[in-house]
Amino acid sequence: MRINLQPNAVRELDDLGIDAAQLDTIAIQAREWALVGRNGNDVYAGPRGLLAGYRWPLYAVHCGQLQMLLLAEVQRRLGPQAVHTGCRVTGYRNDSRGVTAFIKTRDGQRREVAGLLLMAVDGLHSPIRAQTHPKQPPIQWGGAIMQRRAKELFEYPMFDHHAVPTWLDGQVALQACEAKLCKGVSALVLRNRSSGPFAILGHADEHCSGVLDNIDDVIPKAERDEFTARIKQAAGFAIDALNAASPTTAPGARVPQEQV
Ligand SMILES: Cc1cc2nc3c(=O)[nH]c(=O)nc-3n(C[C@H](O)[C@H](O)[C@H](O)COP(=O)(O)OP(=O)(O)OC[C@H]3O[C@@H](n4cnc5c(N)ncnc54)[C@H](O)[C@@H]3O)c2cc1C
Repeated sequence: MRINLQPNAVRELDDLGIDAAQLDTIAIQAREWALVGRNGNDVYAGPRGLLAGYRWPLYAVHCGQLQMLLLAEVQRRLGPQAVHTGCRVTGYRNDSRGVTAFIKTRDGQRREVAGLLLMAVDGLHSPIRAQTHPKQPPIQWGGAIMQRRAKELFEYPMFDHHAVPTWLDGQVALQACEAKLCKGVSALVLRNRSSGPFAILGHADEHCSGVLDNIDDVIPKAERDEFTARIKQAAGFAIDALNAASPTTAPGARVPQEQV
């Protein structure tokens, strides 16, 4: 599946030393981002990336190729032994010296791995999240289905979890990351349910069942521009603000061991 790396995401990769020279080998710099109605006519289309005035491009990239690039980079920097595949994390225990992750391997063996910090990036069905927030309601579907067309049409119901008040539990997650991002990301998750980037397609659907000749007859340009400006602002890629923002992680920053 191809995904878009918006300029704010490309900025983070750039700050990590994964620059345009590397991304250009696997990804295409997109010049335009467009949403179309049911008959393929534009509902919204506008320049993105360098062409729109961002300091970073917008890339269209195959998810698998991006993952392989990141894997190669981690192994190059930390050594091939740093990545263990075929393992599922099932839970964790905080203790006085750090944190222990519970692992189940593909062949059914169980292991415990002790460390200073556990960062969980295990997706929608995360057992770590379930342990940290045991009273969380189940994942919810807001009613939207995203369609992506390759040789055939794929449909993805847009599920998400309710936003959580904290990402921390003892040695699980990073305090600086929590302080800087948790509140804003949680607000964005809730916002995206009702007025995310695709909500304008809902407006077009209400007005003309998504079938249109000219979007100007359905939603005036000023309204469309205001809608996309609000989305960019909320998602952190309003052009001027992003171009002027200081890096999320200060250059050369390290996590002091006593603070993890
Ligand atoms: C159709 C579609 C299109 C999208 N398009 C875009 C786009 O264009 N641009 C964009 O920015 N976002 C896009 N997104 C959203 C984006 O894919 C998600 O926000 C992102 O993948 C979430 O990342 P994640 O690391 O939280 O979870 P995931 O990407 O789901 O990664 C979780 C990883 O953890 C692994 N895992 C799961 N359970 C365990 C376990 N117990 N132990 C160890 N590992 C585990 C999984 O195998 C997986 O590799 C799209 C999503 C969909 C569904």
